[in-house]
Amino acid sequence: MGDELLKAVAEQLQTNTREIDTVARFGGDQFAVMLDGIASTGVARELAERLDMSLREPFDIDGRDVFLNAGMGIAIGVPGVADPGDLLRDAEVALNRAKADHTTHQAIFEPGMNSETLERLDFEADLRHAIERDQLVLHYQPLVDLTSDRVVGFEALVRWQHPERGLVPPLAFIPLAEETGLILPIGRWVLETACRQAQAWQAKFPGVRPMMSVNLSARQFAQPDLGGQIQAILASTGLPAASLELEITESVVMDSSEKAISALRALRTLGVKLVLDDFGTGYSSLSYLKHLPLDTIKIDRSFVAGLVDDDANLPIVEAVISLAHGLGIEVTAEGIETAEQRDCLRRLACDRGQGNYYAVALPAERIEECLGPDGLASAAG
Ligand code: C2E
Ligand code: MG
Ligand code: MG
Repeated sequence: MGDELLKAVAEQLQTNTREIDTVARFGGDQFAVMLDGIASTGVARELAERLDMSLREPFDIDGRDVFLNAGMGIAIGVPGVADPGDLLRDAEVALNRAKADHTTHQAIFEPGMNSETLERLDFEADLRHAIERDQLVLHYQPLVDLTSDRVVGFEALVRWQHPERGLVPPLAFIPLAEETGLILPIGRWVLETACRQAQAWQAKFPGVRPMMSVNLSARQFAQPDLGGQIQAILASTGLPAASLELEITESVVMDSSEKAISALRALRTLGVKLVLDDFGTGYSSLSYLKHLPLDTIKIDRSFVAGLVDDDANLPIVEAVISLAHGLGIEVTAEGIETAEQRDCLRRLACDRGQGNYYAVALPAERIEECLGPDGLASAAG
């Protein structure tokens, strides 16, 4: 169907341009149109409009209506001056701008666009090499049993040690990694590194046998071979499946589609645990909880932050905990920063906690200190 669609798009481009214009496919879903000898930008704009209209018409592919959105970047060359390579690069810069503009989907190249885009492209190119250059690091934040205050495991949180920018937090590069697909190798590296670390800690601290929690992004979750990948990582690192928890967010399972649910079930049959992260921030529908095969939900830290001062949060958190427990789901509270919050969550019978009150996310060496020689040290303090 993809090939049919590409052919149909190519036809539209050809019918809407003149004999003397050149239409080319640049690989993937990118096309280029070269307009020869035009008198003004207006002509290019008009053509872009015309193409936009024609591409908005549904395409009939195998009897199905397929709808497209095309971003268009325009660059104008000066005859005899413009280098074809530069012109294509300028058009691509404009295209990237056009894609980011969700109203018109069109942009004409201006010199100022270059520095911004180049910076982004540099960042992206750097990110491509981050794994092989050994620049990714995992920090680990203790997960604590709220009744005993003992460490039961860790959440692996990725950081990027950039040579010029310093330690880059995940929210500054995970979205770009998602967009570019780099999240797949990065996510695999995170899973493998975290599992290997957890296995090593289990061997070194048999009294704790800490579990490991790893965040999965939407794109990772959509990989058809995710289960196989996880199985292979468990086998090669020797970490028991029951010691691995996978954190997904609501956006991953928002539609509660059969496909998402069966993917979750398949993961669970491997023996790993499933956690719904940031609960309460998305379109949190309580009906998810009934449909999804979950072991734990993590109440978002915004609820925990307002727990003691904001009267409205207490009944919400209380209700979420009792609902989850009624469904046989455990509850972790994120972002515990004070003893009052911890005490309050304890009273509400919340199972586990995580937050700066116990410990911030730390490099592996520092974690060994907090596990202590007897392997049973309490996390607080
Ligand atoms: P998250 O999974 O909800 O992780 C919890 C975030 O809250 C972490 O931020 C953690 O450092 C922070 N945090 C923990 N306790 C406290 C507290 O008491 N107060 C406050 N204010 N913050 C606290 P971090 O490490 O910056 O990670 C941010 C997000 O980036 C994570 O949110 C997760 O969604 C994503 N992320 C991190 N590592 C990975 C990864 O390996 N893969 C993917 N796909 N996403 C990741
Ligand atoms: Mg998480
Ligand atoms: Mg979270």
